Amino acid sequence: MNSNQHRIIGIMGAMPEEVEEIIPMIQNLQKFEIGNRIFYSGTINHISVVVAFAKWGKVAASITASVMILHFKVNEIIFTGVAGGIADHLNIGDIVIGKNIYQHDMDARPLLQQFEIPLTGKLFFECDAEKINLYHNFISNSIINKISFDKEIIDYLESIKQPYPKLYIGDIASGDQFIHDYSVKKTLKEKIPTLLCVEMEGAAVAQVCHEYKIPFSLIRIISDNANNDSIIDFQKFVENIASKYSCMLIQALFL
Ligand code: SAH
Repeated sequence: MNSNQHRIIGIMGAMPEEVEEIIPMIQNLQKFEIGNRIFYSGTINHISVVVAFAKWGKVAASITASVMILHFKVNEIIFTGVAGGIADHLNIGDIVIGKNIYQHDMDARPLLQQFEIPLTGKLFFECDAEKINLYHNFISNSIINKISFDKEIIDYLESIKQPYPKLYIGDIASGDQFIHDYSVKKTLKEKIPTLLCVEMEGAAVAQVCHEYKIPFSLIRIISDNANNDSIIDFQKFVENIASKYSCMLIQALFL
């Protein structure tokens, strides 16, 4: 983005519940329907934003990201949402800022290496390094350090015997698969040893941002451990606290 260009940030959420919580924070709110998706534009703390529910899976999220870039002219995208924890040290409620983002279901072997994205020569897409540091500082200052976590979040995490949330930076993988099986998780972990968590959209949006040369940030909250308890853990997390987390994250980034 050159310095004369007006900054417009696209904010995509993985769950409609998360996006609904962000809408009341938008001033000068306008609503648009394009490609069977609802987009909300306006400002948060004087910064122009466009907010949308990404819809689930890689293709759906790519469509949403493309509309944001081509129609609304966003010049940065931030994706927030829930994810399944892969690394053993992650607990439900932890926050992960994405670094290298893989498409774990991309496999054109023997023509290409496993995970290689055709015509890019890349095994993963990198999130914007400057934004990683910036957003890490914002989140750790306002959430982790100041103990300003929403009380309902802390109460819920205590009720499911999870420790106080931690903030990490690390690798994330996306695929059109809800991972809820220990053996699938184990295989993924062996193939990508640096992996912290899995989800279903981030790497697709990372690819769109790579093609249009705009910075991308991915911030995920662990809703389940991508194992045999995932379906129940995930549903309970979404019902109880996912939207509170998104609201808190957006406040940390913008206010
Ligand atoms: N609730 C929806 C489906 C949501 S899909 C329905 O019932 O139709 C799951 C969402 O949570 C995706 O946005 C994905 O990115 C994220 N997610 C959370 N845990 C995950 C896991 N274990 N595996 C894959 N995606 C996960």
